[in-house]
Amino acid sequence: MNKPESDSQESSSRLPACSAREAAVAVARLIIERGFIAYLAGGCVRDEILGLSPTDFDIATSAPPDEIIKIFRGVRGVGEAFGVMLVHWKGRIIEVATFRSDGEYHDGRRPSDVRFANANEDAQRRDFTINGLFRHPLTGEVVDFVDGQKDLSNRILRAIGDPSARLREDRLRTLRAVRFAARFEMTVDSATEQAICDAARDLCGVSRERIGGEFRRMFSHPTRLRAVQLIEQWGLDAPALNESNSIGSCARIAGLPREVSFATVLAAWRLDRATRSPDHTSQVWRESLNLSGIESKEMMEILEIVSTLGSQWDNLPKSARKRLASRSAFSSALKVLFGVAPDRVRGIQKTVEHLANESGGLAPQPLVSGSDLIALGFEPGPRFKVLLDRTYDCQLEGEITSKEQAIAFAHQEWKR
Ligand code: ATP
Ligand code: MG
Repeated sequence: MNKPESDSQESSSRLPACSAREAAVAVARLIIERGFIAYLAGGCVRDEILGLSPTDFDIATSAPPDEIIKIFRGVRGVGEAFGVMLVHWKGRIIEVATFRSDGEYHDGRRPSDVRFANANEDAQRRDFTINGLFRHPLTGEVVDFVDGQKDLSNRILRAIGDPSARLREDRLRTLRAVRFAARFEMTVDSATEQAICDAARDLCGVSRERIGGEFRRMFSHPTRLRAVQLIEQWGLDAPALNESNSIGSCARIAGLPREVSFATVLAAWRLDRATRSPDHTSQVWRESLNLSGIESKEMMEILEIVSTLGSQWDNLPKSARKRLASRSAFSSALKVLFGVAPDRVRGIQKTVEHLANESGGLAPQPLVSGSDLIALGFEPGPRFKVLLDRTYDCQLEGEITSKEQAIAFAHQEWKR
């Protein structure tokens, strides 16, 4: 019997010794050498045909899981019932899935059973034709059972088979459709589009973790504006966000730079939608999109700063402007504001630049600290924090420039 192939560099701390593609091809070659079919499958084939660099390379094979275990040493089952195995190869992890055909879907998420099948059946169970392609790892030949190449070259997103049935099987596919249509700038086939609109409300039943994951992926891409437009146009916003459908201006989303945090996009979207649905709360979005505490805090901070910039900035004293400008979410808030008030943003940036050039900059070290004051005999208490803040404000205003002055000011204030 043949010995399993070992991953000679299994240590995860080491850098991978080959590219993800090289690892996938090497793994597929070994499977083929044992007499099975093995193809590169799905997203990686699509991305390569589009001239993009795939992030991950998956393999679909006729070899059942027990054969994969015999061939490779570093194998971990992740969905053995579905025939999905993870093969460790030279510091890389390659997903290897046995060709399968999905049984009935009862819960709008997963098939009740799967049956190992041939390559054609495996292509048919996938969601969109552009995702149903295979490529022979050694010859490079594209194996296409679903007319995916034609749709790719015409930039058409089309469900494989009956669109309504496909979208009912896994309700997340409506959001996946948005992501692919936006990211690859595709026209959506009309039957597929109709089925998406019909199935939109069913998104309610999908786990918030999966919905949040799709939004993260969509919004991290510069094509997020189209994604938002499709979400609102197809009525996916209501079930995704647990609020009523609203078609906003998207002006703030449109004005964002290419690279921004997820929380920044959410803040922009929230304000773009606010005119029609002002009643939503951060808590609802947090739960609906499964946001982390850090993400929702960042989103709320951006919203708070944008609101201050809109209504109070012009009347704020220098110290308050410096405090605001040194908050971590300040630059994100400006990005959100840019789409609706570019001149105002430029003006604020100029002022902040000017303030940053003053001695000490926007956030100088305080001239006196809490422990300085305690050492001088001040008693910690509610007034103590106010006193420290006031002293620091005077420093930011440039009215106090030395430690001696700061201490004298603190004494004088304390007596009042
Ligand atoms: P990405 O570029 O984001 O990785 P992808 O298409 O590669 O997109 P994956 O989640 O990596 O998506 O899945 C790989 C392949 O598995 C897809 O191309 C598709 O063929 C199939 N697939 C994934 N999720 C689904 C789904 N929910 N329904 C049907 N097929 C799916
Ligand atoms: Mg992928």
